[in-house]
Amino acid sequence: MDTIDLRSDTVTLPTPQMYEAMANARLGDDVYGEDPTVNELEGETAAMFKKEAALFVSSGTQGNLLAVMAHCERGDEIIVGKQAHMFLYEAGSASSVAGVQINTIDVQTNGTLKLDDIRAAIRMKDVHEPRTHLICLENTQNVMGGVAFGADYIRKVAALAHMNQIKVHMDGARIFNAATAVHMPVHELIEDVDSISFCLSKGLCAPVGSVLVGRREFIEKARRFRKMLGGGMRQAGILAAAGLVALREMTKRLHEDHENARLLADGLAKLPYIQLDPTRVQTNMIYFTLAADAPVSTDALVQHLKAKYNIYISPAYNKEFRFVTHYWITPERVYMVLKAMQEALQG
Ligand SMILES: *Cc1c(COP(=O)(O)O)cnc(C)c1O
Repeated sequence: MDTIDLRSDTVTLPTPQMYEAMANARLGDDVYGEDPTVNELEGETAAMFKKEAALFVSSGTQGNLLAVMAHCERGDEIIVGKQAHMFLYEAGSASSVAGVQINTIDVQTNGTLKLDDIRAAIRMKDVHEPRTHLICLENTQNVMGGVAFGADYIRKVAALAHMNQIKVHMDGARIFNAATAVHMPVHELIEDVDSISFCLSKGLCAPVGSVLVGRREFIEKARRFRKMLGGGMRQAGILAAAGLVALREMTKRLHEDHENARLLADGLAKLPYIQLDPTRVQTNMIYFTLAADAPVSTDALVQHLKAKYNIYISPAYNKEFRFVTHYWITPERVYMVLKAMQEALQG
């Protein structure tokens, strides 16, 4: 039986079209700026986002780190959500590598940072204080449920930031999911940010890679830092070829993942012992909690689904599970998962 893997959209494999594009990719040395496929990916991304330039990088984590390094000086402070990927899951790279100090503020349930909280976190221009130089937003916001917010809010943050000579970076690992959810072309959604990084390798199914986007001068700084970090890749066009398919084709089908997430959430909400807030299900993620009196423990549920149904789910954190839909989670598979969950919860 095939595996049904709900742990993340990072488990997606390249599509047949991607394998074909990779096999036929025109290649060169990208450190010399001579890989035509990388150049095509970077050019097409910049055009699609209506920004000056783009840089193909190894991962979302590298894209975010390069943004911090290219925007900030060592000793600067950046404002980041306490529940943000950049704070929780990037191995402390902003502080340990970029040498910045992170000032965290709470992320709201809708994925945003409160404007008043940002205002209060901005440092005074005083010799004693670090210089606030960057605000980082995350859209979709993972920990809050894969929730998406629109351009109006981003515009307000950017206005506040720019008034204080502060830049705005968007951790847009899943920005195309956000754009799909708010029914807006991606360039309109991110118009007011100074930089954005997004992943080709998650719901968009490319095997490797992210893209950092921004002004030309910023991207050239980031390119130098990428080299410094050992991220100058030679015939990287073999990866960028899959990235081009991701960008051109896979960005158009994310509404299917969102519909399947809705289907799965609605089914799960009807099962006993499952506590699920349907308003949090806006894109391809479903967070829910198993009730304390459920007939199975969270660990037993993980083991049982794997052993009996070949369904892979992540271990729960504080009894909270996250299921993620993607290219390989079809409606048929959603029903298989619901049936398995129902059986497991009957005790
Ligand atoms: C996955 C993810 C990243 C980092 O991506 P990697 O490619 O795994 O390094 C950054 N931000 C968010 C919100 C993510 O979900």
